[in-house]
Amino acid sequence: MATAVAVPWGRLVPGPRQEAARNVDAACVRRWLEEVAARLAAERDFLTQLDAAIGDADHGVNMHRGFTAVMQRVADLQEPTPGRLLKVAGRTFVSTVGGAAGPLYGTAFLQAGEALGDHPSFGPRLLGDALRASLEGVQRVGAASVGDKTMVDALTPALGAYELELRMGGSLETAASGAREAAASGMRATIPLQARKGRASYLGPRSVGHQDPGATSTALMFAALEQAVLADRSQRFAAGARRPVSGP
Ligand code: ADP
Ligand code: MG
Repeated sequence: MATAVAVPWGRLVPGPRQEAARNVDAACVRRWLEEVAARLAAERDFLTQLDAAIGDADHGVNMHRGFTAVMQRVADLQEPTPGRLLKVAGRTFVSTVGGAAGPLYGTAFLQAGEALGDHPSFGPRLLGDALRASLEGVQRVGAASVGDKTMVDALTPALGAYELELRMGGSLETAASGAREAAASGMRATIPLQARKGRASYLGPRSVGHQDPGATSTALMFAALEQAVLADRSQRFAAGARRPVSGP
């Protein structure tokens, strides 16, 4: 049962479990996509440099091109559901991005969109289901496991941290924050690994000592998710839709 906490200044505010039930709508998903697009534009050259070291120097360019197309497509959608936004993003990604990242991220977005169905909004648990569906989709297409030095090395711990935080009674915000942190650690942990999947695996031991580009773009997406969720909450507070959980 949802808890309510009485505070000295005499107002009832939601307890953690009630906060965890906060819903995400299409505006928040759109904000996340915009944030990803902005970060990819800013990090395009960095991602490409990472790929130059162990691949073919196109990851930043690929991701930026794909997301530019995604933003153009989703801008035209009238009152989309969150699931539709993500499915359109996935299809656009598959059709505009070649190489490994196109089908992999395309599948991740499509699967997340499928998991969200036609709901106009969703709570933290359904977001967890969507993230899990993304990871399963990526692994179905690319057959990579943790330790292979791919985007899976960021996505897997991010999902683990997200689910753990919710199980501990955390909120959407703390779960998104845990996921961002775990994705960044997973990304850094790719540096000493030898690649076993994708183009970088052709280098064998020479792939050691370099950060994986795909794990880096995945970590960027989780940083954008946290930002979108926090911005969405601030906006709701400003609009008086909800009150802060822990007092002034
Ligand atoms: P390409 O390697 O075709 O040039 P990109 O450079 O855009 O494609 O993307 C490279 C990234 O794709 C890698 O850094 C890695 O994270 C990811 N990747 C490659 N192969 C796989 C795979 N089988 N499973 C998961 N991720 C993969
Ligand atoms: Mg490449």
